[in-house]
Amino acid sequence: MAFPDRSRTVVIGAGIHGLSTALHLAEALAARGKGSGKDVLVIDKGGIAAGASGIACGVVRNNYFQPAMRELMAHSVAVWESDPKAFSYHPVGYMQISPEVMREDVASIYRQQQAIGYDSTFIEGAKESALYMKGLYDDWQAKGITSVLHEKKGGYANNTAAIYGLAGKAEALGVRILTGVTVTGFEFGHNSEAVAAVETDKGRIACDQMIIGTGPWVRDFWDMLDLPKSITVKGRDGALHDDVPMWRYWQLEEGVLGVEPGFLTTNDGAMPPVMHVDTDAPLYSDVDGSLITDALWGIYYKPDFHFNGVQGGASPYEVTTPVDEVAIDPYGPASPEFVSSPDFAHMWCSALAHCHKRFEGKLGLYRKEPSGGIGCFTPDSFPVFDRFRENAYVIADSNHGYKMIGVGKLVAEEILNGATPGLLKPFRFARYAEGDLHPVSHSPFPWS
Ligand SMILES: Cc1cc2nc3c(=O)[nH]c(=O)nc-3n(C[C@H](O)[C@H](O)[C@H](O)COP(=O)(O)OP(=O)(O)OC[C@H]3O[C@@H](n4cnc5c(N)ncnc54)[C@H](O)[C@@H]3O)c2cc1C
Repeated sequence: MAFPDRSRTVVIGAGIHGLSTALHLAEALAARGKGSGKDVLVIDKGGIAAGASGIACGVVRNNYFQPAMRELMAHSVAVWESDPKAFSYHPVGYMQISPEVMREDVASIYRQQQAIGYDSTFIEGAKESALYMKGLYDDWQAKGITSVLHEKKGGYANNTAAIYGLAGKAEALGVRILTGVTVTGFEFGHNSEAVAAVETDKGRIACDQMIIGTGPWVRDFWDMLDLPKSITVKGRDGALHDDVPMWRYWQLEEGVLGVEPGFLTTNDGAMPPVMHVDTDAPLYSDVDGSLITDALWGIYYKPDFHFNGVQGGASPYEVTTPVDEVAIDPYGPASPEFVSSPDFAHMWCSALAHCHKRFEGKLGLYRKEPSGGIGCFTPDSFPVFDRFRENAYVIADSNHGYKMIGVGKLVAEEILNGATPGLLKPFRFARYAEGDLHPVSHSPFPWS
């Protein structure tokens, strides 16, 4: 097929957001008799799932302290549930296991989940929490836990398999996915601010509408759109904070323990929910008993056949390199700089042993292959979904986004209707200037 010189809609990025938007645009155009998937072109400099979506842990949860995030996630969970086979989705549920300092935050999450009809159970008290956890795992031994939120929905999806599933569904509706094409810039209109064409290393593609779903590379696309590198943020206290960098990078620390995935089943032999444990109990080395940390720490983990082991991660760390100098490529495990550290393996395996006796003495089984990758975060660490320069839609998920398969559906709706869906309104760029920020929780993670 010849290289296209025009497409009504060009989507940049064949990850979760680009492909979900392409699929839902194709569906909605056909349903309204206004076109089809043939009006949508996806381009990617690598391949399908070449970015963060292809290395994500794949956790799908509702557990967010921010009401707007929770409502958005409930919408996305419904999209995952709409075709679990194609999306390689495992609805095993999700658990947030927390210390006293987080109890009230999580209690409010539970109350609001009840209000939106999201099925979950909440256990409070140290004894009650231990009893509930031992009912699931008889070797449970984590300390400092005083609440358990058990979401009955959610779970995880197999990272690349789900993205290929999305791509297959989009292509079946006529969407063209062109890989190995690098976007180098934009051509703006003569009488408007709009993007008239996307410039690539293979040629120019004129378009009416353009969507950017480029994950960690959003920094570069923001620059190509001539948007500000730093902004003014009106804080919750009403004070104006000038020169706040628009983007920051964090390194996601993840890895795999090479045990049979069946090594972590519940007492009745079932695949367990995705586990997230935060605690302020001191964490000691499972190797020599030395203190690793006495500050609040957290881990997440799940048995995963796709990774062939128990896979998970811990709190990320902020990348201190000046943002413009952060080398995003080569990305993920291929990066010489941004992969999980040996310290991570020691901490994570010790933390697993802190939680379950069965993980004691298992550090030697940790897979010593590169893993993890960087994510690009916004000033408040929550997504920006907005339209810039009239026809450039930016999906910047602040690294929350593998689970957000529904965002593309909402973006497609917004593009075709012209009006912003209520679920996307709390994520407009204008919130920074207006001080309309999301509440902040006590979690040690920048994405909770
Ligand atoms: C280690 C790790 C674990 C994670 N775990 C989870 C999790 O468990 N749950 C969760 O919800 N989220 C998770 N995330 C976050 C999640 O992966 C991302 O938020 C999400 O995948 C971003 O999707 P995307 O479609 O925006 O971008 P990506 O999947 O990164 O896709 C962007 C695409 O843009 C392409 N591209 C870049 N530049 C150009 C260019 N110039 N021209 C053409 N194409 C270009 C890239 O090749 C890439 O394929 C994790 C992230 C990391 C790094």
